[in-house]
Amino acid sequence: MSRLAQTHGLTDVQREILATVRDFVDKEILPVATELEHRDEYPQAIVDGLRELGLFGLMIPEEYGGLGESLLTYALCVEEIARGWMSVSGIINTHFIVAYLLQRHGTQEQRERFLPRMAAGEVRGAFSMSEPGLGSDVAAITSKAVRDGDAYVLTGQKMWLTNGGTSTLVAVLCRTGEGRAEGDAPHRSLTSFLVEKEPGFGEVRPGLTIPGKIEKMGYKGVDTTEFIMDGLRVPADRVLGGATGRGFYQMMDGVEVGRVNVAARGCGVARRAFELGIAYAQQRHTFGRPIAQHQAVQFKLAEMATKVEAAHAMMVNAARKKDSGERNDLEAGMAKYLASEYCKEVVEDAFRIHGGYGFSKEYEIERLYREAPMLLIGEGTAEIQKMIIGRRLLEEYRYQG
Ligand SMILES: Cc1cc2nc3c(=O)[nH]c(=O)nc-3n(C[C@H](O)[C@H](O)[C@H](O)COP(=O)(O)OP(=O)(O)OC[C@H]3O[C@@H](n4cnc5c(N)ncnc54)[C@H](O)[C@@H]3O)c2cc1C
Repeated sequence: MSRLAQTHGLTDVQREILATVRDFVDKEILPVATELEHRDEYPQAIVDGLRELGLFGLMIPEEYGGLGESLLTYALCVEEIARGWMSVSGIINTHFIVAYLLQRHGTQEQRERFLPRMAAGEVRGAFSMSEPGLGSDVAAITSKAVRDGDAYVLTGQKMWLTNGGTSTLVAVLCRTGEGRAEGDAPHRSLTSFLVEKEPGFGEVRPGLTIPGKIEKMGYKGVDTTEFIMDGLRVPADRVLGGATGRGFYQMMDGVEVGRVNVAARGCGVARRAFELGIAYAQQRHTFGRPIAQHQAVQFKLAEMATKVEAAHAMMVNAARKKDSGERNDLEAGMAKYLASEYCKEVVEDAFRIHGGYGFSKEYEIERLYREAPMLLIGEGTAEIQKMIIGRRLLEEYRYQG
């Protein structure tokens, strides 16, 4: 067991879950991850294994068939999984956000209908805010939902859906004009819809097309897609929480816990990069000794390990704060920002330690090098995190003079 990234104060149950996940990662994910990634192949056997372990229902309450675990347990599992292969944590994350949205904001009927099947991994979630013309500026969404009898008709193009093809339940944010007063802020007319669909590509439901997978630089294996709505009819009782105009707040709540998850991924990828770097540094010799014995390389290892440790501590703090019922937007933003930046730096240092071999597809660090940048963008870019952190600090430290 690694000395780095330890978490104190865990319960026996948490320790047991983590040990099981760690063992699964070592035996089932790490040996095949790079090969599957190079083929951009969906890791079906791994997903089936995670489903058997109950990972899809980790945070879903026991009354709905889940394990009812905390955000901290979930984040620590994500850290372990991302150490094996970041894409696998992406498969779980959007599912987890949709389950969280239902738990927190769904009607009783919506919770009862979806959560038990989500806990079993039969229904798989994706969430969709981004469009071709916007990502950071969520309030500028242009996709529209217009009431027509007992349904809404959705029209517009969505972009960058993680699990867009494999999911069967998508939480989609669209603009609904009804009840909107003149001068209302644009985010007040956004509504989340729960759209059920068949998995796969093409016309997966009348009025809804998933054109195919977007080709990506990294984060392969997991499908990322567009989502084209053209007269897609969604029953009115599939408005999340039953009322229009609340979608922005609901989605931001979901993204906030998603940020802890992205921080956890950064911790996992950085830890793996450190492991690869320190192992290679003791095997490769230059000028008559292992490169780990050159001070410049040893300093790199020291910096990498310190970053792994600091990011883990901030991620754990953000998760614990949310679990205690307190607002954690500041901590989640800081953890996401720091963990993703540190992850990129640690991966780059491990890459440099590998010399020319880091550039070879035979070495795992090549895959990590292409994966780390995604964390700088997903669930809000570094600039967006800094905006959130800055605003919150000005609220907390308002000048009283
Ligand atoms: C692999 C992948 C998977 C994704 N999965 C999902 C998903 O499942 N669901 C989903 O809804 N979205 C998803 N996204 C979209 C992702 O959330 C957006 O890409 C992200 O929010 C950034 O939006 P953008 O790409 O439109 O960049 P923009 O918003 O256009 O930003 C471009 C640049 O401008 C900067 N910028 C923007 N506004 C400001 C400002 N006010 N001040 C300073 N700088 C600013 C940004 O930081 C960035 O550097 C995914 C993206 C990727 C790459």
